[in-house]
Amino acid sequence: MPDICPVCDAGPEAFTLLGTLEESQRGKTGPQFEGTIVILGAGPAGAAAAEAARKQSEKCRILVIGEEPALPYNRCKLALSLSDEALLSKAPTGTLTDRAQGLVLHSAEWYKEHRIEVLTGCSVSGIDLDAHEVSVSDLEGTVQTHPFDRVVVCTGATPFVPDGLVTCDSATVPYGGAANVRAVRNLQDILAIRASITHTTPPIHAVLVGGGVLALEALPPLLAALPPDSTVTVVEAAGHVLSKQLNKENSDHFLSLMEAHLKDKVTFKLSTKVMGVECCKREDGTVQATQVRVKSNGVESTIPADLVLIGIGVRPSVPQVKCAQESSLPFLSRGAVIVTSFAQSIAHQEIFAAGDCCLVEAQPYTATYSRALDTARVAGANAASLDLSYGSLSAELPFLPAGYFGYQLRMWDVLMTSVGPAAEESDTVVQVPLKDGRAMCFFRDGVLARAVLLGGKSTESVGIALVQGVREEAERGDVLRLLEGQDQYTSRAIGYY
Ligand SMILES: Cc1cc2nc3c(=O)[nH]c(=O)nc-3n(C[C@H](O)[C@H](O)[C@H](O)COP(=O)(O)OP(=O)(O)OC[C@H]3O[C@@H](n4cnc5c(N)ncnc54)[C@H](O)[C@@H]3O)c2cc1C
Repeated sequence: MPDICPVCDAGPEAFTLLGTLEESQRGKTGPQFEGTIVILGAGPAGAAAAEAARKQSEKCRILVIGEEPALPYNRCKLALSLSDEALLSKAPTGTLTDRAQGLVLHSAEWYKEHRIEVLTGCSVSGIDLDAHEVSVSDLEGTVQTHPFDRVVVCTGATPFVPDGLVTCDSATVPYGGAANVRAVRNLQDILAIRASITHTTPPIHAVLVGGGVLALEALPPLLAALPPDSTVTVVEAAGHVLSKQLNKENSDHFLSLMEAHLKDKVTFKLSTKVMGVECCKREDGTVQATQVRVKSNGVESTIPADLVLIGIGVRPSVPQVKCAQESSLPFLSRGAVIVTSFAQSIAHQEIFAAGDCCLVEAQPYTATYSRALDTARVAGANAASLDLSYGSLSAELPFLPAGYFGYQLRMWDVLMTSVGPAAEESDTVVQVPLKDGRAMCFFRDGVLARAVLLGGKSTESVGIALVQGVREEAERGDVLRLLEGQDQYTSRAIGYY
C-alpha cells in the first residue's frame, strides 16, 4: 500500500486492503520469460505494467513507447500545475521532460536500474499481430518497426471533443489546432493554456465547458492563474453542476460553500448547451477561439472567449490492430480493449491492455488512477508469464464490488466525495448533517449502496467509514448509528428526498 495516495494525498490510515493482486513468484524460482515485451503508452499504466513485468521476469526485454516527450507522470495534479509553478520545473525553457520534474513517477535512473527502455516522443500507429511488430513514428515522421513477443496496450484516453464543435470559417478545427482551446489532459495542454493566458491582454474571459468533476477541478487553479479582474463562465447542459453526483439542492449548497471564491468572478450558465466554438485565423497564422455559441431554452446566444477549457469527458485511445485471422470475439467495446480479469484481450491472447484504454469484462468503464494501476500490474505480470493460457497466468484482478469506484473533488477547502454506483429512483436517501458538512446515504434493499459527502476537512474521515460501508453493504441502522455515534457529528437525520 502506498504511504501517501498519489491522487488526493491521503495518508496510510485512509487505505484498506481490498484484496491482493496474486503475483506468483514462479518466474523468480523457475524458468523465466525471456522474450520482448513492448508496452504502448508511457503513462501511469505503462510505467506500472513495466515495473510488474520486471518483477515477474528478470530476463525479458521491456520497451515502453510513448508519444509524449516526458517520462510517465501523474496526471491527477495537472490542473494544479496551471497555477502551481513548483509542480513544473522553474526552468522557463527546458524540454517538457525537464519541466515535468514535479510530476514524473520515476526518474530516468530508475528505468535504467530496472532495465526498462523508454522511447519518448514516438507515436505507435499500428500493431501487426501476424508480423509480431509495432510501427512507430517519431517527431520527424520517421517510421520504424519494433518486434515483440507480447504487447501491452496502455495508450490511455483523450479528451472528448464532439466532431465539428470547434470551427474556423465553417471548417472543423481538430483538437490542438486552436491555440486557446484545450482540455487539461497532458503537459502540453498546461503549457498551451499558460501561454495563452500570458499572450492575452488582461482581463481575460475564459469559458469552461462542462460542470462535472473534470471541469470543476480545474476552476480554482484556473482562477489563480488568470490576471486580476478576469472572469470565467461555466457552461453546463444539465440544470445543476455535478449532476452525476448531486441533486439540485446539494449542488446549490456545494456552490454556496465557496461563494467567497466565486463571487464576481464566475458565472454559471446552467441548462445551456455549447453548440460551437468559433475561431478566427490571426495574421501570424494561428487559429484562436473568439466566442462560444450556446443554446438555452431554444434560444441561441454567444459568449466572448479569450480561452476555452473543455472538460466533458474522455474517450479510450487504441492503435489499429492488423491480424489476418479475425477473432470471433470483439477486440473493442466503445473504443476500449475488452480484457478478462487477467488483463488479457478476449480477442487476441498475446495482447494485454491496462488503464484508461481498457474495459474489464463485466465491470463498468471508469477512467481512474487506481483502476489504471491495478489493471497495469496484472497486465505487466501476465505479459511476462511463461504461459499465456487463461488460468495459468500470474496475476488476476481482485473482484471489485460495484461500490469500489468513487470520486473526490476538492475545490479550495470544500470537498465532495462520492462512492458507489449511480443512484436509482427506488433508493431511500437519508441526509445526515455533519459538523462541517452533510452526508447523503443511499439505501437499496436496506443496505448502503451509495454515499455522497459534502463539506470541509472533517468529512474526509466520515468518507472513509462510508466507503467501507458501501463495500460491505452495511445495513441502514448500522450506518446511521455509525454517523450518529461520532461525537463531532450531530445526530439528527434531517430528512429524505
Ligand atoms: C487533470 C486530471 C485529473 C485527474 N484526477 C484524477 C483523480 O483525482 N482521481 C483519479 O482516480 N483519476 C484522476 N485522473 C485520471 C487518471 O489520471 C487516469 O485514469 C490515468 O492517467 C490513466 O493512466 P493511463 O496510463 O491508462 O492513461 P494515460 O494517463 O492517458 O496515459 C497514456 C499515455 O499513452 C500515450 N499514447 C496514447 N496513444 C499513443 C500512441 N498511439 N503511441 C504512443 N503513445 C500513446 C499518451 O500520450 C499518454 O502519455 C485525472 C486525469 C486528469 C487528466
